[in-house]
Amino acid sequence: QGPPPVTRYNLNKVTVTADPVKNKEHILILTPMARFYQEYWDNLLRLSYPHELITLGFILPKTKEGNQATSLLQQQIQKTQNHGPEKDRFKSIIILRQDFDPAVASQDEKERHKMGNQKARREVMAKARNSLLFTTLGPSTSWVLWLDADIVESPPTLIQDLASHDKAIIVANCFQKYYDPDTKKMAERPYDFNSWQDSENALKMAEQMGPDDILLEGYAELATYRTLLAYMNTVGGDKNLVQPLDGVGATALLVKADVHRDGAMFPAFSFYHLIESEGFAKMAKRLGWQPYGLPNYKVYHYNE
Ligand code: GDP
Ligand code: MN
Repeated sequence: QGPPPVTRYNLNKVTVTADPVKNKEHILILTPMARFYQEYWDNLLRLSYPHELITLGFILPKTKEGNQATSLLQQQIQKTQNHGPEKDRFKSIIILRQDFDPAVASQDEKERHKMGNQKARREVMAKARNSLLFTTLGPSTSWVLWLDADIVESPPTLIQDLASHDKAIIVANCFQKYYDPDTKKMAERPYDFNSWQDSENALKMAEQMGPDDILLEGYAELATYRTLLAYMNTVGGDKNLVQPLDGVGATALLVKADVHRDGAMFPAFSFYHLIESEGFAKMAKRLGWQPYGLPNYKVYHYNE
């Protein structure tokens, strides 16, 4: 018996390119999950990116709802990894149970989005994302795709489409479908307001804040006059249009793993008066990585 083996990885041999399929680049899909939605899982299975290059990572709270979601998730994993067709099986799957409580007891949309709940909620989300990231990022990971558990519609080519722009950080535009009682038809509206370009107004507001205070987007009480990715969308607009951003949401966000390796994470505290994914964008920018968004490339959020 020889000495214990040493595994060496040359990070400069891990490529990150606009054609990740051809270059067999490994991707880590990370999802904080409070609830399990079958549509989310079905979309993962439909991803046309080679599944043997995909590692899935989940973090779930240890609440009653979190336990329920964990067992539904595990059932689907069993089915796919042990019984499903070989080509559907993912390289590996990691499930973490969170060692801290969620910020709000109720996961209802109305309760989640109350302004008074935002700071505590985004702090917890930031910690959950960081735990997940720091326990799963491996030496051969080229890309990290942040994909929320309640994204119920996304294209099978999501990874290739986002990667084709060869940006360090790129986010899809997250909308929501709903029934419009006036027209009696299904319609859609913007959902995620965390992707934006900064404004003089927001910067001035931040200047006047206390050190622990944070700016929130999408609340009338805090009119920032930022330019939101949500409203850069145009009907029939070019799906490949890219816009530089200062803040990003993490509902469907592709990040070159090197951005995270450089130290960009999700601040669970006021960082330039920003928190979580918006704070991440700021930290990445300070490290020299420019975030981008795709106004006309949409994914859809569940509607309660
Ligand atoms: P919203 O869409 O902006 O209201 O944010 P969500 O509440 O949907 O949270 C974003 C993502 O994190 C979703 O995938 C949720 O399922 C998940 N999530 C929400 N709260 C928690 C939590 O306390 N712990 C964990 N691990 N995940 C959570
Ligand atoms: Mn959500």
